[in-house]
Amino acid sequence: MTIFEKIIAREIPSSIVFENDAYIAFKDINPKAPVHVLVVPKKVSSRLDEITQLEMGELFFTASLVARERLNLSDYRLAINVGEGAGQIVFHTHVHILGGWVARSADAHHDDMGEA
Ligand code: 5GP
Repeated sequence: MTIFEKIIAREIPSSIVFENDAYIAFKDINPKAPVHVLVVPKKVSSRLDEITQLEMGELFFTASLVARERLNLSDYRLAINVGEGAGQIVFHTHVHILGGWVARSADAHHDDMGEA
C-alpha cells in the first residue's frame, strides 16, 4: 500500500482541497511552488501509462477543475512524473498542480494558499 492509499483511507492526515467518488486532491507535503497540490485517482494504479485513455482525460479534467475552481489559480502548471528515472517517488498515479506565482483572481479565497 502506498502513502497515497493511506491518505485516501484517512490512515494518515493530509490537507485535502477537493474530493469526490473517484479523486482526491491534497497539498504536497514538500511544496515546490507557492501552491502545490496533488490530484490522485482513488482507483489504484502505479503510473500514468497503466491507466486508460478515458481515465487520463478525466484525471487532467479534474486537475484543471481543482486548479481553477478550488485553488483559484488563473495560471498553473500540471506535471506528471512517469517512472523513477523521471523523478516519480510515489507509485500511485498522480498529477502535480503547481502555481501561485502570480496574483490570483479578485474573488480568490486567499486562505486557500495555506502552507502550500
Ligand atoms: P512524485 O515525485 O512521485 O511525482 O511526487 C510525489 C509527491 O508526493 C512529492 O512531491 C512529495 O513531496 C509528495 N509526498 C510524499 N509523501 C507525502 C505525504 O505523506 N503527504 C503529502 N501530502 N505529500 C507527500
